[in-house]
Amino acid sequence: MTSNEHTAPVNLLDLDFEAMQGFFADIGEKPFRAKQVMQWIHQRCVSDFEAMTDLSKPLRQKLGDAAEIRMPQAVFDQESVDGTRKWLLAVDGGNAIELVFIPEASRGTLCVSSQVGCALDCKFCSTAQQGFNRNLTTAEIIGQVRFAAQALADEGRGRRVTNVVMMGMGEPLANFKAVMPATRLMVDRYAYGLSRRRVTLSTSGLVPNMYRMAEVSDISLAVSLHAPNDALRDEIVPLNQRHPLAELLAACRHYVSQTPHHKITWEYVMLDGVNDSDAHARELAALLDDIPSKINLIPFNPFPGAPYECSSRERIERFSQILQRAGYITTTRKTRGDDIDGACGQLVGRVDDRTKRRERQSASQEVAV
Ligand code: SAH
Repeated sequence: MTSNEHTAPVNLLDLDFEAMQGFFADIGEKPFRAKQVMQWIHQRCVSDFEAMTDLSKPLRQKLGDAAEIRMPQAVFDQESVDGTRKWLLAVDGGNAIELVFIPEASRGTLCVSSQVGCALDCKFCSTAQQGFNRNLTTAEIIGQVRFAAQALADEGRGRRVTNVVMMGMGEPLANFKAVMPATRLMVDRYAYGLSRRRVTLSTSGLVPNMYRMAEVSDISLAVSLHAPNDALRDEIVPLNQRHPLAELLAACRHYVSQTPHHKITWEYVMLDGVNDSDAHARELAALLDDIPSKINLIPFNPFPGAPYECSSRERIERFSQILQRAGYITTTRKTRGDDIDGACGQLVGRVDDRTKRRERQSASQEVAV
């Protein structure tokens, strides 16, 4: 610890509206400054306090002394033939995370990361194979939205972020403390002002934090289900061994009851010969019977060493039909950005794996051989 540690500048990107008001109170300023400065930072993308012209000179100076605006930096940038854009952003500690923008006719969806790598071990996900390093800070999470807003404005092609999905690297509910303030900024009218229906948190089912989330948030919830029974889900989403389906579904019912007219979006990755039979579809339809639901089928995106293949187009179509006939709104996700490895489950970033997962895996393979 250095002696100037307690005077280290506060990164204002770490603060939601309430925390920003607290910050201004702490430096002896009126709370309404929070609104002004949030708009400068998040809506006008200004990082230089001197450019915040409706603040007095002494206040700008005070901010320069006490605060900073520190963002993740792009180290790599790619655009897919379908217009999907992917950035690799360097974050503190020599790691990098991936950020993906998916343009569609009527919206622009930004896929945001919550952790460097992921500590869960879903068998079909390439982020899992990278292991885990650390949680991102609120600044690093909201910084992704700010970064993309600025980069898209600079492009000058009229593209902008209209939707955010917390579906990048990491399990957002395993980083509850930093993710919640970041999602609050996404919907805050002094920051990004997105509707709560256009901000979606996706979880693989961290049940206790789903209840905590219901207390403080009403953004959209997506659940990575991928299997209609415990035996299969235990295998492909190992978190299910800790929080089995009955528990998960109860948490979903609770979330829906807290936010009227809200539906759960179920994500279901289509794995050839694993979870994609007619019987699985019927089991799924019965399972979700009493929950307001939308089902999103995701064609599996392969990655090197993946133990699965994607179901055929006909199989996915048939699976979808069974669910639709049972009354479910069912969509099949278009695979976007796969030529730049920006598709679901292909995000790998650069993760200094502290869990040493790959080493453990190769060790256990040696034992198995
Ligand atoms: N940990 C959270 C957030 C990550 S979201 C969660 O699991 O929900 C990433 C989404 O892409 C999840 O639905 C995940 O199951 C899906 N996915 C992961 N790997 C994939 C792959 N190889 N092909 C298609 N979808 C994949």
